[in-house]
Formats: sequence, C-alpha cells, structure tokens
Amino acid sequence: MTTHAPQTPRSVTLPTTLDEAVDALTAMPAAVPVAGGTDLMAAVNRGQLRPAGLVGLGRISEIRGWRYQDGHALLGAGLTHARMGRPDFAALIPALAAAARAAGPPQIRNAGTLGGNIASNAPTGDALPVLAALEADLVIAGPGGTRRELPVAHLLAGREMLGPAELIGHVRVPLLHARQVFLKATGRTGPGRATASVAVVLDPARRGVRCAVGAIAPMPLRPLEAEQWIAAHIDWDGGRVLAPEALTAFGEYVATACIPDPEPLPGSDERPAHPPAVLHLRRTVAVLARRALGRALS
Ligand SMILES: Cc1cc2nc3c(=O)[nH]c(=O)nc-3n(C[C@H](O)[C@H](O)[C@H](O)COP(=O)(O)OP(=O)(O)OC[C@H]3O[C@@H](n4cnc5c(N)ncnc54)[C@H](O)[C@@H]3O)c2cc1C
Repeated sequence: MTTHAPQTPRSVTLPTTLDEAVDALTAMPAAVPVAGGTDLMAAVNRGQLRPAGLVGLGRISEIRGWRYQDGHALLGAGLTHARMGRPDFAALIPALAAAARAAGPPQIRNAGTLGGNIASNAPTGDALPVLAALEADLVIAGPGGTRRELPVAHLLAGREMLGPAELIGHVRVPLLHARQVFLKATGRTGPGRATASVAVVLDPARRGVRCAVGAIAPMPLRPLEAEQWIAAHIDWDGGRVLAPEALTAFGEYVATACIPDPEPLPGSDERPAHPPAVLHLRRTVAVLARRALGRALS
C-alpha cells in the first residue's frame, strides 16, 4: 500500500471579507477554502488531499454571525456548531441548534462550521436534514462581487455544484415560529456520527409538517407523501394532538418511504426480505420519526 506523507500547503491566504476570499480563489485556482479545518485538515493529514494553497475563512467577520431578513434568519457560513448550540440560537432555530449540539465532540463543535458541514456534504452531516426540512437556501458569493441563491437541497443532491471560486456565504432559513425537533441515533453512547437522523419541522402558517431523514442515503431524504398524510390528520386550530397510533403510523410511513421493500425477483411476485441490518435501520428511522413528531406536537 502506498502512503503519502502529508504536505504543507505552499501558500496560506487569510482574507477578511468574502469578496477578498473569492478573489484569492480566483487568483489561485488550485487553492481550497478552509473554515474550521475539521474535515479538510483530516483529509490532508490522511494524505487524501494535497492542496497547493489554502484560503482561510476564519477572519471573515461577516460570516460569523446571523441577522434577520424578511422573516428569515441569514446565517453566516462561518457559524460554529458551538455557537449554534447556544440558547439564543436555539430560540431562533431549535432543530439546527439541536443538530449543532450533537455534531461530534467539543473540539469539533468549537471549530467546525455550518458552511463546512454543507460543503463537505457527508451523509452524516447533522445540519443537513435540518436544512432540508427547513427548505433553506444558500447565498453563494462568486467572482466580481456576485451573489446567487440556491436551494440547499439542490447542492446536497448534486443537482448544482459550487463554481471553482465560489463560496457559501450565508444560509437563508425561514423563521417558522413553531416547534421543530432533530433526533439522531449513533449506534453507541456519547458523541458519534449518525447512523440515522430525523428532523421534523412544523409550519403552522401553511398547515404543513416537513420531515427529512439523514445519514441513511448520500443526501437527506424527504418523505413527502408521509408529510402530507400526517399534516391532514393534525387539528391545526385545536391542540395539535395526535393519537399514539397516528404517531406510530407516521414513523412507519416515513421509514418505509425512505427504505422501501426490495423489488420482487424477476419472474416472481414475492418480495425478498431485507437483511437484518436494513430492517434494524428501518426500525430506527420509524422510532426517530415517531418520537420527533411526538415531541414537536407536545
Ligand atoms: C472526529 C470527528 C467527528 C465528527 N463528528 C461529526 C458529527 O457528529 N456530525 C457532523 O455533522 N459532523 C461531524 N464531523 C464533521 C465536521 O466537523 C463537520 O462537517 C464540520 O461542520 C466541518 O466544518 P469545518 O468548518 O471544519 O470545514 P472544513 O474542514 O474547513 O472544510 C470542509 C470542506 O468544506 C469546504 N468549505 C468550508 N467552508 C466553506 C464555504 N464557506 N464555502 C465553500 N466551501 C467551504 C472546504 O473547502 C472543505 O472542502 C466530525 C469530524 C471529526 C473529525
């Protein structure tokens, strides 16, 4: 087996504005942006990545906070998980705060950022199902001071890519002023990568329930029919109470939509059984979805 000694990047640039960072990437196309470095430097240290240069995003103050904009929160891509986990942020976007609190051990949460979580696009990225359920948009900074908006789901599904000198500047999240829950299963106690995660978001203004399942596929999955079915069973003008059977049925609906039964074998009507590990994962998703909706409605 060939191993590569990690190489120190030849140039490190530390811009103080998004546009300067874009300019630095335009001037040096072989350089890569680095925010907290928790994913990128791990890849460098493993010898999987040898960037010719780094453009550090850590000194760009305009992407480290958030502000209100037309019923939305405009979140800077440089917000760390630790910052998003604090109570003031949790009051704003509770499910994203819960995901941030669950994202790895403290040293990762202190350094790792929202923008890095999205750009890494790992199936186990905890922020990703929440952003999918919230139907968030990305604000992308590009050459010449340009800004374009892109649904986060398009980037996560690979339908649109970041250009070579483009950066995620901000994430636009609608403020729904209703309960939202993120739950994660890790297969062990303590912090760990998700084996499955579920975000459930209530949208009372549209009488909608939005749900996304993370970690079980390359991108977060939205069980749209299950969302519509359960939304029709909720008494939006009353106490928003659901019978336990309806919660259980929602969990099963979500799990079966995300992990369908196998196709019948050719020439047969019989569907083969899933392997035990897949059945276990399906049960996990069903339990997470049931609990998440139950807590959102409680
Ligand atoms: C031990 C360990 C445990 C972890 N556990 C979890 C976990 O439980 N849950 C979880 O979700 N994640 C986990 N992670 C992954 C990681 O911490 C997150 O994905 C983190 O949010 C990455 O952010 P960062 O700022 O460190 O990204 P970086 O490592 O700096 O960058 C990651 C990638 O994103 C690009 N990038 C960064 N910022 C931008 C931007 N603004 N625009 C465009 N591209 C950008 C970089 O070029 C690079 O390709 C873990 C990582 C480690 C090492």
